[in-house]
Amino acid sequence: MSSADHPVTKRRTFAIIAHPDAGKTTLTEKLLLFGGAIQLAGEVKAKKDRIQTRSDWMNIERDRGISVVTSVMTFEYKDCIFNLLDTPGHEDFADDTYRTLTAVDSAVMVIDAAKGIESRTLKLFEVCRMRDIPIVTFVNKMDRESRDPYDILDEIEQKLALDTAPITWPIGRGKSFAGTYNLQTNTVRRRDEEEVPTPVNGPEAAAASGLLPENERQAWIDEVTLARDACNPFDLQSFREGHMTPVYFGSALRNYGVRDLIEAFCDYGPSPRAQDADTRKVEATEDKMTGFVFKIQANMDPNHRDRIAFLRVCSGKLSRGMKAKLVRTGKPMGLSAPQFFFARSRQIADEAWAGDVVGIPNHGTLRIGDTLTEGEDLLFRGVPNFAPEILRRVRLDDAMKAKKLREALQQMAEEGVVQLFLPDDGSPAIVGVVGALQIDVLTERLKVEYTLPVGFEPARFTVARWISADDPAELQRFINAHRADIAHDLDNDPVFLAQNSFSLSYEAERWKAIRFAAIKDYQ
Ligand code: GDP
Repeated sequence: MSSADHPVTKRRTFAIIAHPDAGKTTLTEKLLLFGGAIQLAGEVKAKKDRIQTRSDWMNIERDRGISVVTSVMTFEYKDCIFNLLDTPGHEDFADDTYRTLTAVDSAVMVIDAAKGIESRTLKLFEVCRMRDIPIVTFVNKMDRESRDPYDILDEIEQKLALDTAPITWPIGRGKSFAGTYNLQTNTVRRRDEEEVPTPVNGPEAAAASGLLPENERQAWIDEVTLARDACNPFDLQSFREGHMTPVYFGSALRNYGVRDLIEAFCDYGPSPRAQDADTRKVEATEDKMTGFVFKIQANMDPNHRDRIAFLRVCSGKLSRGMKAKLVRTGKPMGLSAPQFFFARSRQIADEAWAGDVVGIPNHGTLRIGDTLTEGEDLLFRGVPNFAPEILRRVRLDDAMKAKKLREALQQMAEEGVVQLFLPDDGSPAIVGVVGALQIDVLTERLKVEYTLPVGFEPARFTVARWISADDPAELQRFINAHRADIAHDLDNDPVFLAQNSFSLSYEAERWKAIRFAAIKDYQ
């Protein structure tokens, strides 16, 4: 197979990063609409026969209540297969979002045109930067009172230290927003329903086409001329390396600019990247299947108490029925029912390629961070575990249920709902979370799924750090000296629990040979 024909070249696996309210959900819906995923509810093949009609656009407006419940949504547009990985909107589930970002090859950063870069966007951007993930920027809500496009570009450059290259320019703003002008191709697209944009003979012609009120035209021509002359030209390599972001303007709600965006992904979006494993780099085009689990979701289907592990395929072909090796345990695992997810349905995946995300139903065999291969002993790195911000001691009123509780907590920890720390002195388990809502989720699930009424009490500790040292004897000395403050995590790695950050600093000062880590790779 020549590399240009390889199935991975068509794949685009990405996530949307945004501050709440910037329009992530609206944009997701519109992207799915393009891919036909919403109307067709999973019938990907049938999609090709359909023509997108005006009524499709009406449906989505009517259907606005739909909530996207799956963690991954697959859809097609032109020749490309998109895997959009959803990330939870709420900050309390930030660790889930960070893990999801380890499984994408690129991201769309949605910015509210009136608000610019907001706190959460900045944080998520930093996570992307750590992995040099290429970012495409979508400046949303241009149909509302918004900032000057130059201001927005400038803010991205200043706050994110990222070069910007506007690819489209808004035609008007607020009430007079009427479409987008493509600076590269000299074309105008009024709304997203317009599949083929209209070629124009430069900004003057675009302004004259009746889209702008007469009194705004000259100012707009000057603005676009300046944008063309003064802004950075788009540089594919710089984008792929994560140094430059192409910028698109639009309004997801009113169907402007989304088609420009999706076409950009077809044209420039990176296909699946090589992934770092402990022993070597794994290329997406290698023959043998490899992949890692970045997320586990339980109870997706309320009728079945199911548990789906989401596997990002990193290389080769995953075929239904194949046997894979679960590297953590060395045991074989049959993949009898891998699944693809669409907006509202799922379907058995007969085959999946690098970049695809498949759901693997299982009853607790797989955990976050697990690697599957066709036999090779390699472990993918980089599905991180973050030191929790909140620690709680678990209180169980019925002592007879201690064993059941232990199992349930272990399960939740394997799913990434919480982190579990078992104190060495045998005192009750401590759970750690990044956000308080995770405790609510845990409480609810323990009650409903395990009929375990538990309470959570503040722990004596507020800080947890993974400890290690080059010299195992030194680590043991530290552990011996702090018995009452040591716990072990799910992988049996030692953790130091400190009352507060002062006591942590104090110990770190005294024990120079000990490393206190706030982030741990899952493996
Ligand atoms: P999320 O929190 O980022 O998922 O944001 P949503 O997609 O839920 O959007 C937040 C609000 O902004 C909703 O009321 C949307 O209808 C609205 N919204 C989203 N996109 C646009 C847009 O392009 N223009 C306008 N005027 N409103 C928008």
